Amino acid sequence: MTDKNRTLQGIAASPGIVMGPALVLTQGAQVSSRMLYSPQEVAEELERFSRAVDQTEEEMTRLKNEIAEDLKEHAHILELHLLILRDRMLLEETQRLIHEQNYNAERALQQAFLKIKELFQRIGDKHIRGRIQDVETVYYRLLGHLTGQIGGRLLSSSEPVIVVARDLSPAETTQMDKARVLGFITERGGKTSHTAIIAHSLEIPAVVGLDSATLEIESGDLIILNGLTGQVTLNPDEEAIWAYRTTRNEFEIFKAEVSLGSALPAVTSDGHTNRVLANIEQPEEVSLAHDYGADGIGLYRTEFLYLRQRQLPTEEELFQDYRQVVAAMAPREVTIRTLDIGGDKFLSPLEYAPEMNPALGLRAIRFCLKEQKIFRTQLKAILRASAYGRVRVMFPLISSPREMQEARQLLEAVQEELRQGKVPFDPKLPVGAMIEVPAAVTLAELLAGYADFFSIGTNDLIQYALAIDRVNKQVADMYQPLHPAVMRMIRDVVQAGLKADIPVAICGEMAGDPLNIPILLGLGVKELSMNPMAIPVVKRIIRMTSLREATEFARQALSKATEVEVNDYVTRKMNDRFPEIFRFGRPLANNLAP
Ligand code: PEP
Ligand code: MG
Repeated sequence: MTDKNRTLQGIAASPGIVMGPALVLTQGAQVSSRMLYSPQEVAEELERFSRAVDQTEEEMTRLKNEIAEDLKEHAHILELHLLILRDRMLLEETQRLIHEQNYNAERALQQAFLKIKELFQRIGDKHIRGRIQDVETVYYRLLGHLTGQIGGRLLSSSEPVIVVARDLSPAETTQMDKARVLGFITERGGKTSHTAIIAHSLEIPAVVGLDSATLEIESGDLIILNGLTGQVTLNPDEEAIWAYRTTRNEFEIFKAEVSLGSALPAVTSDGHTNRVLANIEQPEEVSLAHDYGADGIGLYRTEFLYLRQRQLPTEEELFQDYRQVVAAMAPREVTIRTLDIGGDKFLSPLEYAPEMNPALGLRAIRFCLKEQKIFRTQLKAILRASAYGRVRVMFPLISSPREMQEARQLLEAVQEELRQGKVPFDPKLPVGAMIEVPAAVTLAELLAGYADFFSIGTNDLIQYALAIDRVNKQVADMYQPLHPAVMRMIRDVVQAGLKADIPVAICGEMAGDPLNIPILLGLGVKELSMNPMAIPVVKRIIRMTSLREATEFARQALSKATEVEVNDYVTRKMNDRFPEIFRFGRPLANNLAP
């Protein structure tokens, strides 16, 4: 039995507070190493490996088919895993190592995996880099079959437990039965890992990144898991248990109130209407957007189909995806962002030479204007989808009116082609510019002549304005959304929009952080697009704030000279005004600030 009230600190990954006994899952399979000495042994080893691949495939297909109805939206993760399983980087490399290096299958597989991992580590984009987790999941499953230590780790528990593991694969997470798993703690993972995201949508409280969890915690230990703060208390005393019950009740009440208000419009207390929209990456997420009360889709990132497979998606594949989203959201609007790929994010990290400064390289609209065939295919699919509901299209990383001109010309050419072919589309489709480069802020008044709307991509705008790499941990603390320069840029873009009478939205992560909402309203922003889970909390704040109050809030914030002063001011002010936001609101919104 571990000491009373010992507290461990991890990363809060999925909100909620639970108490229960721990079930510590043992480590995954170990890799044994042995050399093969005869062609016969090599042939046997290749055969053994191929059997393990088949078994893994069978297992994953079964899991995919058995996935519970309400989790169907996560089935694509298992599809992705099936693709990875058959990927030549993993399969052929393992076979080659068995064949040429005379490694046993486990060691060959491990080496092939490490090689892929190294390649991924060189990728700048954190979303793509994060996909190594999927390769790792497949690797462990395969290894499990090779060594005979296969899955099923979760099936033995009967009473409700808090699962403690080194890591949980997304497949294991989706299989969690809420009646038996109160919450989970893992040593690995961060806020943006698949496992954390799935836990959040399953509403299973979770703490991840708790380094030595499986060593510190023993099965049977009573644990309080706080998915709001990331704290885990081992063997709590009476007082800690009492405090746990109080906090849990307060949180449940807050959650219920927030969720009740999510279907209501985002009108300030003095009657000004705003639009609260969802950011999505895949059609499956539309149901989340609906559930959380989105007034539309403010950012549909379209990279997934291009990154999921080695070959380019066809117009038909793209069209099917877009149409699905557009039809499911109708009559609400869907803003499709054209491909933001290139630089360090490309179809295969192998085929393109890495750029010195990928963030400043051939990405987004620059890539599309160069690879016009790829761009036209996407534009055609978007236009075709526009016949099925309300669509807006926007171009990422615009830095000058020239790019808008060129992109619009291509769009018009594609429209003409569709007209000739008598293919229906919306001829009035609004065309927007994403404002994410400082040059675009400076030129906003000019750009307004070429755009029907603006959407400020603050994730990139902050990176380029403050010269802070958004994926570099070393400078992460300098990545300040409320930096005086950033606030002024937002203000200027809003003013340019007002002058030209075009709407201005914000779709970077800062729009989904409850803390920033009054300031953004006060700067004149009327459309906020965010991770769907943030919508209910953001709507609640909007409904509790008057535009007058927000304007004063923004005025005060703008009067500060440093980001430290702004942050102090906002923290103090928000704490007085919305005390529940710090305790419960931000974790519930699960802000994934880059
Ligand atoms: C942004 O830069 O703020 C944005 C929304 O785009 P992404 O995060 O996809 O670059
Ligand atoms: Mg961007």
